[in-house]
Parts: sequence; structure tokens; C-alpha cells
Amino acid sequence: MSVSGLCEVCQQPAVDHTCDRCGNLVCDRHFDAELGVCSECVAEIRGGDPSDPTGTSDDDMPDGVDTYEY
Ligand SMILES: [Zn+2]
Ligand SMILES: [Zn+2]
Repeated sequence: MSVSGLCEVCQQPAVDHTCDRCGNLVCDRHFDAELGVCSECVAEIRGGDPSDPTGTSDDDMPDGVDTYEY
């Protein structure tokens, strides 16, 4: 088997980078040159909140916090 690199994010064969964090092979579009990691790791590093990945909830407040004043 020769080197078979597919971008871990978009599955295209033109991979140019290896993520420093998770080791994924990723294409140029999905590699952050500043951090040296793939776009998935960038999301984890910058996001830091895996409990709400898509923002399905409208409010960012934890339950039980009553900050609303009328
Ligand atoms: Zn890609
Ligand atoms: Zn990564």
C-alpha cells in the first residue's frame, strides 16, 4: 500500500498537513497554520464547550440562573 492520505474532514485526497494535536491528515483548507492543528481541533481549542456544539439552545445561561429583570 502506498501512502493513502485523505483529508479527515472533507475526504479529498490532496492532503498537505498533519495535525499536531490529533495526527489527522488534512488538506490546506482544513489546516490552521497558526495553531498547527486541523479544523476540528481548532474548534475544540477555541470552543471549549463540547456540551453545546451546534447552539441548539437559544440561551447561554445555565439552568437555575435568574438574571432576567422586567
Ligand atoms: Zn479538507
Ligand atoms: Zn486535529
